[in-house]
Amino acid sequence: MNIIILGGGFGGLAAANELRANLPSDVNITIIDRKDYFMMDLVKLWIIKGTRKFETSKRPLQSVAKKGIDFVNEAVTLIDTQKKLVRTATKELPYDYLIVALGVELAPEKISGLSDNGLILYDLEHGPRIRERIVSIKSGKIAFAITGMPYKCPPAPYEAALIIDSMLREMGTRDSVSIDFYSVGPITLPAAGPDVSKQLLDMLESQGIKFHGSCKTVSVEQGSLKFEDGSSAQFDLLIAVPPHQAPKVVHEAGFAPQGQFIPVRRDCKTQFQNVYAIGDVTNMLVTEKIAVPKAGIFAEGQGVAVARDIISQIKREKSDSVFDGKGGCFVEMGDTAGYVYVDMFADPNPITRLDKPAPEHLVEKEIFEQERIRKWL
Ligand SMILES: Cc1cc2nc3c(=O)[nH]c(=O)nc-3n(C[C@H](O)[C@H](O)[C@H](O)COP(=O)(O)OP(=O)(O)OC[C@H]3O[C@@H](n4cnc5c(N)ncnc54)[C@H](O)[C@@H]3O)c2cc1C
Repeated sequence: MNIIILGGGFGGLAAANELRANLPSDVNITIIDRKDYFMMDLVKLWIIKGTRKFETSKRPLQSVAKKGIDFVNEAVTLIDTQKKLVRTATKELPYDYLIVALGVELAPEKISGLSDNGLILYDLEHGPRIRERIVSIKSGKIAFAITGMPYKCPPAPYEAALIIDSMLREMGTRDSVSIDFYSVGPITLPAAGPDVSKQLLDMLESQGIKFHGSCKTVSVEQGSLKFEDGSSAQFDLLIAVPPHQAPKVVHEAGFAPQGQFIPVRRDCKTQFQNVYAIGDVTNMLVTEKIAVPKAGIFAEGQGVAVARDIISQIKREKSDSVFDGKGGCFVEMGDTAGYVYVDMFADPNPITRLDKPAPEHLVEKEIFEQERIRKWL
């Protein structure tokens, strides 16, 4: 029997490890990823902060082999759900169960002028460039722009602004550098609701970061963001979150129309037999308007839920394994961090809560990363 997992990120690694720990060795478990390493996205903020380096933070995905999980380091080029196989440049791999955990693609090209005039917060290669600009800026305007929804880890751009705020304070340049935040959303964290959004807004304002909601960026010119309503904002440094879309191979296989995410319910089953989708590549609606946010903690929870469902099927046991919708994200600022707790499927409405910034949460964030690396790789 073959279980194939597309993507060795947060969701894929969580699923693979749960499966391996509970299934006999005659069940083959294979991860396919075009990258040969795993590094949590949250480290990208520490690269900007200067407390981490990419080279020392990444871990080889090949390490899963020592646990009895196969790793194929190639891009997935085709998912054939009729013939039940997956293709890469050199391989054709049949599956009995398939888990699609391919995450998102960043699409800065969807906003005219963005790539030429701004730095992309989520782009690994832009991290060191953002840091260079922050440490050398003496005065001017920094603009953050969230240009599309949904995007990964809703609090992350605000964390970046708060981290950069504290870097500038440490360097003594904060008084001559303004930080403005332009989001396509009306409030800071639409999926977390108005109360948590207000708390986050207060955190930003307490540090002198100005938030501007409902600003839909349509184009970027040198030093200037252009919004849909005809207004504009000037900047010396633009740090942007670009629109996100599902990987091409996903819509080519018929999971969803071009660019759209795979619709799933809490069992993460797709329209194709024995094929599941988890994590950022999915669109799991909670209400008509609210979807489960794109966060590693949720990709992990979905990966474990799906793995348990597959394990029950293989062992011919009854399964009622669904994603519980619980999790949380840290909001780092300087030497402390707040914590957003979320219970997406709480009855009758989702519960969200923002715990006040405390140094313990920053320690917990580091433990969050280290524990998973130890467990998964
Ligand atoms: C700056 C930042 C900070 C964040 N902080 C947090 C945090 O504190 N807590 C939290 O829970 N989440 C956080 N997140 C979000 C989190 O990183 C993502 O939600 C999470 O990685 C999603 O997991 P996933 O498994 O769905 O996708 P990913 O982890 O993105 O994995 C997808 C994998 O698929 C591979 N892939 C894609 N296409 C192909 C292909 N065609 N062939 C082969 N392989 C392919 C990719 O190489 C990748 O390894 C943060 C994100 C960012 C950007």
